[in-house]
Amino acid sequence: MSNFDCKNKFKPDTEGTYIKSFKEYQSLHKKSIEDPQAFWYEKAHEFLNWDKSFTKVSSGNLKYGNVKYFEDGYLSVYQNCVLRHKEANPNGIALIYEADNPEEARSVTWLELSQQVQLYARVLKQMGVKKGDVVTIYMSTSPEAIYAMFACSYIGAVHSVIFGGFSSDAIKARVLDSKSEVIFTQNFTKRRGRTIPMKTTINKAIEGIDFVRKVLVYGRVKNIKEEINMKPNRDILLESLLEEFQEGGKYENVYANLQPMSMNAEDPLFLLYTSGSTGKPKALIHTTGGYLLNAALTHKTVFDIRKGDRFGCVADIGWITGHTYIVYAPMLNGVSTVLFESTPDYPSITRYWEVIDKWGLTQFYTSPTAVRFVMSCGTDPLKDFSLKSLRVIGSVGEPIGVEAWNWYFKNVGKSRCYLVDTYWMTESGAIMISAIPGATTLKRGSATLPLFGISPQLLVKNGGSKSIELSMQKKQRKFSEIAENDQSGILTIKGHWPSITRTILGNHKRYLETYLSPYPGYFLTGDSAYRDMDGYYFIKGRIDDVINVCAHRFGTSELESTLTLHPKAVEVAVVGMPHKIKGEAIFVFCVLKDKHTEEMVIKNELKSLLQTSISKIASPEHIVIVDSLPKTRSGKIMRRILKKIVRKNYEVATYGDLSTLLNPDSVDSIVSNVKKIL
Ligand code: ATP
Ligand code: MG
Repeated sequence: MSNFDCKNKFKPDTEGTYIKSFKEYQSLHKKSIEDPQAFWYEKAHEFLNWDKSFTKVSSGNLKYGNVKYFEDGYLSVYQNCVLRHKEANPNGIALIYEADNPEEARSVTWLELSQQVQLYARVLKQMGVKKGDVVTIYMSTSPEAIYAMFACSYIGAVHSVIFGGFSSDAIKARVLDSKSEVIFTQNFTKRRGRTIPMKTTINKAIEGIDFVRKVLVYGRVKNIKEEINMKPNRDILLESLLEEFQEGGKYENVYANLQPMSMNAEDPLFLLYTSGSTGKPKALIHTTGGYLLNAALTHKTVFDIRKGDRFGCVADIGWITGHTYIVYAPMLNGVSTVLFESTPDYPSITRYWEVIDKWGLTQFYTSPTAVRFVMSCGTDPLKDFSLKSLRVIGSVGEPIGVEAWNWYFKNVGKSRCYLVDTYWMTESGAIMISAIPGATTLKRGSATLPLFGISPQLLVKNGGSKSIELSMQKKQRKFSEIAENDQSGILTIKGHWPSITRTILGNHKRYLETYLSPYPGYFLTGDSAYRDMDGYYFIKGRIDDVINVCAHRFGTSELESTLTLHPKAVEVAVVGMPHKIKGEAIFVFCVLKDKHTEEMVIKNELKSLLQTSISKIASPEHIVIVDSLPKTRSGKIMRRILKKIVRKNYEVATYGDLSTLLNPDSVDSIVSNVKKIL
């Protein structure tokens, strides 16, 4: 699998493509690592407009976690993301809103975007929001949520976007943690045609939290009688408030000259909670200058962004993918961006393909879980769509197994588009490892090579003689950089880059302990990886998920990717269980395409697939067929729950923070299945 070469027919456009050859990539990457000061100085001026330029590119280090970029520079987010494009192309499309109901789809021009952001900013000002205050946004992926996000930086406030599907408990924890006094929300949302309350969920979440002063409610669903319980003095209907700032309104002239805030490059832009795949979600802080620069640069590079493009990232704005590649990067690069409020199968299974053809999208960016879902529906739904406007298709969030990679490349990319498997995380702010269209030769299952400023290193604890041994630390922790290729190890990034998260809100100690102290000088990603003979990176899974069977280490991704090659397996999760003789044994959970299939036959086939494709040692101890796997709301398998279950811990209450768990029902059914065999 690792050496399969699928160089495709993608043709770089010599006019528009940013990186035109592999050689150019190599030399620029080399410069970014060897002379970062010069590299980032140049890029910061190429991609951003500065109100006041900076004299220093970066300072600080990973030891103290005090990294700063462009620290004496000032810039306006509104000017960079909105104003300059409004001036150049007022009637061009900035936002494409694919509402849950396709008939409610609409687009927003740069001019409209700029007007709305200004109005929302004036509202925040009137509400007494000041620079540095945290504003919570609990809304669906919609233009109004984007106005709210940009309105925050317009007046220097910090947004905390909370995924629109969260329960009141999950919201409560985040509002308490971030001490946010002002909240944007909406009356209801629409999901697969159903009307879902949001305002009453907020009511419950903030009950008893006295510091929440204002709740601004957008009437997303019109003509609805259901009560939303507005609390006097605290809750305000946004539309009626906005009217007071428009022509003839009470505040028309009061804030008419409110100028966008010139932010210091190191001012916080937003805080965002992680997906919670491995534990309690952490609120990570991203600052303004470095984050925006790397958002714009990675977007331009990885997605081959050209003038007039229409970029379709179908994530939710509540996750980092949404922040960086729905909102900030496309807006910085001045291309239209899609706000997809629905699901891939509503109103029908052709929804993605309809959206691509209808708007002529040039890029399509989604997650492996979504690819696996559309793949399970077969190719029939695609037959009436040309998808010919697409040039680049992308994946993010989990390893995309070979089976899904092939399907996506062939059926969506028509073996013509570039497929970028993008590896990154909330903490990195932007993509770290990815192919670059026209420059990188693709390999199935590999995120390929590092982007600018990223120096991945594989580490090994108590390294062997072949490795470069590093200094002993206070705690006598010994580790080595693996110098050779064709090796696996702990994936770290050596040094820092502009969009690295600066801290965990209110807990710098946890920030240092989680990412920076374990291997001094290196940022710990939490994942393990294999580097092949050509230096390409293959993500193997979370470090804690590596399964050690008879002293042989298997990555979950490798095992799962192999198992999904079985034509009847839709999704698979693999975890290790303690074993008296082997140390650990492999436990497989599998979702089948057809529930009525003969289970025994499939189990035997899955077993022999692992034995023949990986190793006899990788033979699974147990295989359980389940209806669905526990997933985070951002679409990732929550293996930590499965690990508890195979350890015969059936007490859900002891499973840790489950606020981001999408489908709690799956847990009960898995528990009862496992109980039968353990
Ligand atoms: P938490 O940190 O709360 O446990 P999380 O790590 O799932 O949650 P995110 O920041 O959304 O939160 O996800 C980043 C992780 O997603 C990475 O550490 C990696 O494990 C996985 N990931 C992202 N992109 C890829 C990819 N292209 N290939 C493989 N894994 C990926
Ligand atoms: Mg993580």
